[in-house]
Amino acid sequence: MTAKSLAVRDALGFSADQYREWVAAHELGHAIASIGAGERVKEIEIVLDRDGPVMGRTVLSRWGRRDRMAALVGLHGGHVADELWLRARGLWSPERSAICQSSSRRDYEQISQLAESGTESAAAASAARRHIETNWSTFLAGLNFLATSSRLPGRALRVSA
Ligand SMILES: [Zn+2]
Repeated sequence: MTAKSLAVRDALGFSADQYREWVAAHELGHAIASIGAGERVKEIEIVLDRDGPVMGRTVLSRWGRRDRMAALVGLHGGHVADELWLRARGLWSPERSAICQSSSRRDYEQISQLAESGTESAAAASAARRHIETNWSTFLAGLNFLATSSRLPGRALRVSA
């Protein structure tokens, strides 16, 4: 792990396994929200070094739909999944929620560049939440898979819109 990812893990007060699951949950949120909105996801990758996960990334397929709303829904999926996962695991606290928000700041920057209004962004956030909640068993299966694998192909995610 990098010094930065270790510092984030310490601030969250997570074990190594919890930290890895947190990284995976965020990426699964992006992936499931993107697929639910009509994009195609090539893969999720958990980037590891010797000591553990450094970061995650969700790679969209070149053949996706790419409209603005779908992109916004996908971008919101990460932080929405953070919150849902923290609550589902009984780990939510205001401090952890704030750390999730600051570690999602690049997503928020892209959202604010893309969204034409706050209303549009809010609609995309609630669509992301709906996709993740509707596909919660897929989300959990993805977490399970990414606990021991560092790559999950998007086609393995069964997402209903
Ligand atoms: Zn993200």
